[in-house]
Amino acid sequence: MFWIAGGKLADPTPREGALCVDGGTIAAKADAAAPGASAIDASGLILVPALIDAHVHLSVAGDPALVSREETRRGVAAVLDLGAPERMLPLRHPPLSICFSGPLLTAPGGYPTRSWGANGEGLELTTAEEARAAVRRLGQKGASFVKLAFDPGFPLLAPRVASAAAHEAHRLGLLVAAHALDTGSVRQALDAGADVLAHTPRDPLPADLLARMKGRWVISTLRAFSVPAERLRALHAAGARVAYGTDLGNENSAPGIDAGELQQLASAGVDFLAAATSSAAALLGLPGVGSLEVGASASLLAVRSLAPDDLAHPEWVMIDGRMAA
Ligand SMILES: [Zn+2]
Repeated sequence: MFWIAGGKLADPTPREGALCVDGGTIAAKADAAAPGASAIDASGLILVPALIDAHVHLSVAGDPALVSREETRRGVAAVLDLGAPERMLPLRHPPLSICFSGPLLTAPGGYPTRSWGANGEGLELTTAEEARAAVRRLGQKGASFVKLAFDPGFPLLAPRVASAAAHEAHRLGLLVAAHALDTGSVRQALDAGADVLAHTPRDPLPADLLARMKGRWVISTLRAFSVPAERLRALHAAGARVAYGTDLGNENSAPGIDAGELQQLASAGVDFLAAATSSAAALLGLPGVGSLEVGASASLLAVRSLAPDDLAHPEWVMIDGRMAA
């Protein structure tokens, strides 16, 4: 058991405080360390929960074990992988917490099987029965999401097949994410039953679609797709819930915290720290991360300020009570 003391806690507004860590979890919170207790000095620093990236591709970014280690070393405690080949499931690379969907469900020849996902990252489905069977299989392998692909540049899932996959996912308690960047694709995704847009769409959405996004989720990925922050601002204003995601594995991405993505979230008027901690934890269904509350995992960053650049370059990182090295 030890304390981290002398600094501030982002709670969420930084205030003086100390944390007691025991067995990898936050065991107590106080104004200062208990007298005589062993303590890590956090003077001049702010403690924030380690971040959660709700859109990554560990196996596209490199060797998933190495990428996972790099993620935790750089301050990411949990991720949602939205496109790993079925043969790689379940994805387990502790101490990184990994939720996953497995491959994108798509039509024969559909996105992404004729582009970056030719090696199992897309799973081709023709019938509703195939779709239900695939979702059951992925669920048995530990998936807590399924991902449907909608890209009009390629053959598309028949609406009946897409809805069958979504229904089966919901029946099993899985959330349905969708790759949908244009207006028509977003409409198809919502018609099929999607709960989550895996990207902020490029198109400005019409009022009826914005209204349908109220209470549903959108994962930011603004920087990876060079989508204007105004698109996310409109979804946020319409009541969509927002989680931080980088699309790690895409071009110009690297493991760790993406200061540019946090900055884009700020430009969209979104509380970027919440989007990357408590909100993302709610989306992933992981109550033990993204929080400095007693009982949460002791996965945290010590930073000089809450500005995106400082968050992306923590002074030190602790994951499950251990200094990440
Ligand atoms: Zn992606």
